[in-house]
Amino acid sequence: MFPLGTIGSMSQVFRPLPNVPDHPALEREVLERWENDRTFERLREQNAGGPRFRFMDGPITANAPAGVHHGIGRTLKDVFLRYHALRGFDQRYQNGFDSQGLHVEVQVEKALGLNSKREIEEFGIAEFARRCREFVAEYAAIQTAQFNRLGQWMDWGNDYFTFSDANIEYIWRFLKECHSRGWLYKGHRSTQWCPRCGTSLSKHEQAGDENYAELEHLSLYVRFRLKDREGESLVVWTTTPWTLPANVAAAVKPDAEYGLREGGWRLAVDGGEYDNVVQGEDLVGLEYEGPFDDLPAQEGVTHRVIPWDEVALNEGTGIVHIAPGAGAEDFELSRVHGLPVLAPIDESGRFLPGYGPFEGLSTDEVATPVVDELELRGLLVEAGTIVHRYPVCWRCRTPLVFRVVDDWFISADEIRAPMLEQNATVEWTPPQYGKRMDDWLRNMDDWNISRRRYFGLALPFYPCACGHLNVIGSRAELEERAVRGLDGLEELHRPWIDAVVIRCEECDGEVERIPEVGDAWLDAGIVHFSTLGWQNPEWIEDGNATGAARGLTGADLPDHAYWEQWYPADWVCEGRTQIRLWFYSQCFMAITLDGRQPYRRVLTYENVLDEHGREMHKSWGNAIELNEALERMGADAMRWVYCEQNPSQDLRFGYTLAEDVKRRLLTFWNSVGFLVTYANIAGWEPEWGAEASSEHALDRWLVARTGRLVSEAEAAYERYWSPAVTTAFERYVEDLSNWYVRRSRRRFWDGEDAALETLWWSAVQALRVVGPVMPFLADHLWRTLVLDGPDSVHLAGWPEAVEVDEALLGEVAEVRRVVELGRQARAQSGIKLRQPLRRLVVQGADGVQDHAREIAEELSVKEVEFGPVEATELRVKPNLPVLGPKLGKELGAVRTALEAGEFEELEGGRLRVNGHVLSPDEVLVERRGKQGWAVAGEDGLTVALDLALDEQLELEGRAREVIHRVNTMRKEAGLEITDRIVLTLPGDLAEHREWIGRETLAERVEPGDELRIEKA
Ligand SMILES: [Zn+2]
Ligand SMILES: [Zn+2]
Repeated sequence: MFPLGTIGSMSQVFRPLPNVPDHPALEREVLERWENDRTFERLREQNAGGPRFRFMDGPITANAPAGVHHGIGRTLKDVFLRYHALRGFDQRYQNGFDSQGLHVEVQVEKALGLNSKREIEEFGIAEFARRCREFVAEYAAIQTAQFNRLGQWMDWGNDYFTFSDANIEYIWRFLKECHSRGWLYKGHRSTQWCPRCGTSLSKHEQAGDENYAELEHLSLYVRFRLKDREGESLVVWTTTPWTLPANVAAAVKPDAEYGLREGGWRLAVDGGEYDNVVQGEDLVGLEYEGPFDDLPAQEGVTHRVIPWDEVALNEGTGIVHIAPGAGAEDFELSRVHGLPVLAPIDESGRFLPGYGPFEGLSTDEVATPVVDELELRGLLVEAGTIVHRYPVCWRCRTPLVFRVVDDWFISADEIRAPMLEQNATVEWTPPQYGKRMDDWLRNMDDWNISRRRYFGLALPFYPCACGHLNVIGSRAELEERAVRGLDGLEELHRPWIDAVVIRCEECDGEVERIPEVGDAWLDAGIVHFSTLGWQNPEWIEDGNATGAARGLTGADLPDHAYWEQWYPADWVCEGRTQIRLWFYSQCFMAITLDGRQPYRRVLTYENVLDEHGREMHKSWGNAIELNEALERMGADAMRWVYCEQNPSQDLRFGYTLAEDVKRRLLTFWNSVGFLVTYANIAGWEPEWGAEASSEHALDRWLVARTGRLVSEAEAAYERYWSPAVTTAFERYVEDLSNWYVRRSRRRFWDGEDAALETLWWSAVQALRVVGPVMPFLADHLWRTLVLDGPDSVHLAGWPEAVEVDEALLGEVAEVRRVVELGRQARAQSGIKLRQPLRRLVVQGADGVQDHAREIAEELSVKEVEFGPVEATELRVKPNLPVLGPKLGKELGAVRTALEAGEFEELEGGRLRVNGHVLSPDEVLVERRGKQGWAVAGEDGLTVALDLALDEQLELEGRAREVIHRVNTMRKEAGLEITDRIVLTLPGDLAEHREWIGRETLAERVEPGDELRIEKA
C-alpha cells in the first residue's frame, strides 16, 4: 500500500484528470491556448530552414459551410502535415479556396432567387460578380473557422483564391502556350448541355456515377412512312419525344435481319411471324416521310435510312431515329453521311422559331403536343413509360440535353503520352487509384474549356474577322494591346474585361473578347504555378491578393527561385473523384508548362456516406454539418473516425461510430489518469529528458513495447496509411492498460519510482506518436504530464527510436496467450477468477517458464506446471468429405475405432488406426478436459486448469469476494482512494483478516454480524 507518510501530505504534482473527458470543452480550451501561446507560429519558426516537405492543397469550393464529408480530407491533410512537422520539416501550409465558376454561380443564383441567365443579365453582370465575390468571402470565413475548430493547422489568412488576377493571368499564360503549340481550337460539336445553367458541360465534370439519376421518361414506338413503298413504314423507338421534330434519318444495322409485320419494319426476332425478312443493308437508302415535315425547320430535308454498325439490338426496334442536333452519336453520323443538322432548342432548352407550335416550349413541355400530333396522324404505334439512368447536371441536378454548339477545346493528342509517362512516376496510395488515373488519361477526350457563364475565368480569346485568333497571355499584354476599356477594368472578370477591345496582331483591326468563361478546373489546375511564382522575376508582396481576392488574403506572389524550392509537391491528398478533375487538370497544365508531374505522391480516399450507406444530401435530411458533429462528438473523435477508415472504402459516418471511438480513447485517458493519481499520491515528479532505465522486467517490457509503437506508427505515417497508425495505437493502449498497468498496480500503490517513471516516459512517447491524429487530447494530456519540457506535444518532435528487445516482447506476447487461454478455460468451467485454483498445466508455450508467477497471478492459481497436458481426452472423428473417398468400405470400421479411442498418436498430428495412417486434415480433432479439468487450446498451445477445490481454496475465494465487496462499498460511499476505514467483518474469515484489511485500506478490522465500513 502507500507509504503512510505520504497520505497526509499529498502534493498535487499533476493536475488531476476527471473520469471522463468533455471533448468539445477540452478542445476549445486547447484552441485558445494554441492561439495565446502562438503554438503553430512557434512550430513554423522551429522548423524554418529545415528540410522541406512540399504539400499542395487542392482548393475547396467556398460556397457553403463544410459538411462532415469535407472533414476526411481536411483531417488526413492535417495529420500528415503535423507528422512531418514533428519530424522537423519546413512547410508552407497554404490553404486554397476555389472561388469562381459554376460551383459558385449556381449557389449565388439560388441565394438571389435568380432562375435563368436572362434573370442574371437583368440583375446585372457587374452586380452579380460582386455578389459572387461577397458570397465566396463569407463562406471562406465560415470554412476557415470550421477547419480551425477541426484542428487543421494552415496558414489561414494567406490562402490562395482561384479568382485572383494572379491566378487568372497564369491560366492565360497556359492557354497562350496551348495556342502556340496549335492545341487550341473551336469545335462545332454535340455536347451535354444543362438547360438551367445554360452552358455545355465537359465529360470530366459529368463522368461520375453521382451525375446520373433514375428518371421516368416516355417510351414511344413511332411509325415513319416509307416513300415509294405503299403501306410500309419503319418503326422506331425513342425515349426523347422532343428530338422527333429534328429527325433527319433512321439508322439500321446492315447485317441484322429486319422483318415486316402489319406494315412496319422492325428487327426480326426469332419466332416472330413476318410477311417479309430482309437484311438491314437492303433497307439502307430508302426514303421516308419525316414525322414533322410540315415544320419550317424541316424544309428541304430528305429523310433516308442510313447504315450504322452500332445500332443496339437489345432494346427498341433495331431502327434508330437520328436527330444530329439533339444527340452526340447522331451528330457524328451526320458528319459521316452528310446529314443536315437541325438544332431545335436554345440555350435554355426551349424550342427555337421554325418549330411552329412547339416554339418557346421546353423539352419537357413539348412531349405532350408531340405525342398528340403523332397520334392524330396515325404515326404512334405504342406509348408507355420507362425508368432509366439519365445524366443530370453535376451542379444543379437538371436533366441534361444534347445541343450542337461551338465550344473551345484543348487537344489532348500530344499531351496524352507524356501524362501517362509521368503518372507512372507517381506513388499512389491506395495503389489501385494510379491505374484509374491511367484509364482516365487513356480515354480522355479533348478538354472542353468554355462555359457560357458569367463569374468565371475570362477566356482571353480575341478571334478577329481577318481569321486570326489573338490569345492574350498576361495583363501587361492586354494593357499594351488595348484600344479602349482599360479604365473600368476593376478585375479580370466579366463584365469589366468584356469592355476591353484590343488590336489584332495580324491586321491591326479592333477585336473583342469572346463572351465565354473557362472551366473551373483550369482555375484549380494552375495553382502549382500561380501560388509559387513560376517564372516571376521579382517577389511581389500581396501578389496573390489581386483582383477579386484583394482584401481576402495576404498571399504574396513569390519569385521563380521560390518556385524551384517548392515545386513539385511531395504530396497531395484529395478524394477519388478528383482523378478526372483536379488530378487531371493540374497534370495537364503542369506537364504542358514544365514537362514534369506536379506531385510525387498521392493519398486519395473514397466518399463519406451516412450510417446506412446512403449518400448525404441536404434535401434527404441526412447531411451532417461539420459544426454540428464537432460540437456533438468533438474533433479528436471525428479525426479518429476518419483516420481509422480504410481510404479505399466508403466511410459510413454516424454518431454511434463516434461513441465507440470515444470509449476506446477513454482507455488511454484512464491509464494517464491512473498515473496522475498515483504520482500525486507518491509526490513523484517527472524530469524532462530522463531515460526510462528501470531493470524491472515489466518496465523493460513497457519500454520495448513503446519502442515498437513508435516504429510501427512511423512506418504507417511514412506510407500515408492512417488506419495502421490508429490500429498500432489501439493495440498499444490495450497492452499498456490491460497488461502493464494492471500487472503493476501494487507497485503504483507502493509509489515505486521505477514504475512511475516508466509509465510516465511511455505515455509521453505515445502522446507524441498520436498527436497528429488527435491533436487536442494529446496536447491536453501532454500539458498534464510534461512539467519541464516543451509546452506542447506538437513542439516536442518525433520520439527517438528505442532499441526494441524483441525477445522480451515475444515472451510476454506468449504469456498473454497462455493467460487468454486460461481465461477461456475458466469461463468454460464456470468458476469465477476470484476463486483461486490449485494448478494450471501449460503445454506448448515457448520461453515463458520465467513468467510462471505472472501467469499464476493472472489466472489465480497456486502453481503453474509446464509439461504435457494429460488432463485431456482426444476425441477424433473422420473428416468425411476427405476420408470417405480414401477409405471407401473401410470407413465404418475406422470410424468405430476412432470413437472407441483405439488409435495411436504419431508425430506431426498423424494418427494410426486400424492399420491406416491418417493425416491431420483427414480427421477432426477435439480436445476436451477430463472430469475435473477445464482445457483450452489453440495453435499448438494447450492449457488445463485443475478444478478441484479444498477447504483452504474455498476460504481464500470467500476472502477475495469480501475484498471485492468492500472496495465496491468504498466507491459507493464516495471515499477517496487514500481514505482509511474501519471494517466490520463477520464469520469465519479470521485467518485472512489481516490480508483483507490491507487490501481495503482498513485501519482496524473488527468482528461483527455483517459486513460494514466506516471512514476512519
Ligand atoms: Zn445545371
Ligand atoms: Zn485581324
